[in-house]
Amino acid sequence: MMESILREGLTALSLPTEGIPALMRYADLLAKKNKVMNLTAIKDPAEVARLHFLDSAALLALKDFRGMSVVDVGTGAGFPGLPLKILEPSLHLTLLDAQRKRVDFLREVCRELGLEDVDCVHGRAEEFAQERRETFDLAVSRAVAALPVLAELCLPLVKTGGAFLAMKSVDTGGELYAAGRGIQVLGGQLEKPVDYVISGTNVPRRLVIITKITETQKKYPRTFAKIKKNPL
Ligand code: SAH
Repeated sequence: MMESILREGLTALSLPTEGIPALMRYADLLAKKNKVMNLTAIKDPAEVARLHFLDSAALLALKDFRGMSVVDVGTGAGFPGLPLKILEPSLHLTLLDAQRKRVDFLREVCRELGLEDVDCVHGRAEEFAQERRETFDLAVSRAVAALPVLAELCLPLVKTGGAFLAMKSVDTGGELYAAGRGIQVLGGQLEKPVDYVISGTNVPRRLVIITKITETQKKYPRTFAKIKKNPL
């Protein structure tokens, strides 16, 4: 069941299917661990295949990830970062999450799947920027915060010429508008969003693309309390 959903979905996206066994092993580990800790509310294997794996995979059809250094901010159980790495092994991946137990799980998955060149980091994005500001080709993020907050967490990590890809639902009109000024202040430029439907479903999604056109001023990101209280 899961295998055929993945095969059909990946083929529809014109993506290679060699990663399917690794994705299935990952789904297995996720289901097991989800019994002892809260990793995902989505439990049905077919839904995991569609709403986690194929939704993540959709990014590969919208942007060239080959050889890119990518940070997944607030990756949780590894989405979208891990499916991206499994399906595009040339990428250099950093998975970042503020919850230690989730990061421990991600390390376990990488070990079990023999994934190389994945850095699993326990930390907060606004603090990680002190070590790694302006160093990633791409930042990706799904279901972490509203765009005005998220932009300040993610854009400082991206190099000039790189991009931040925010995976959102389609009703982002207000969020996009609210984030406009902040994105500019942070050195970003909002591109035309790309709407897509998750392969094999009728679930509409939106990829918000922000290119990094100038360096972010050193005073950003601020502390999380300040970001939240007073988004740019
Ligand atoms: N991206 C995943 C998980 C979403 S849940 C998915 O789409 O399934 C949001 C995750 O973001 C949580 O695991 C939480 O720990 C993490 N998070 C929230 N704020 C963060 C921050 N400032 N820095 C790093 N991780 C953060």
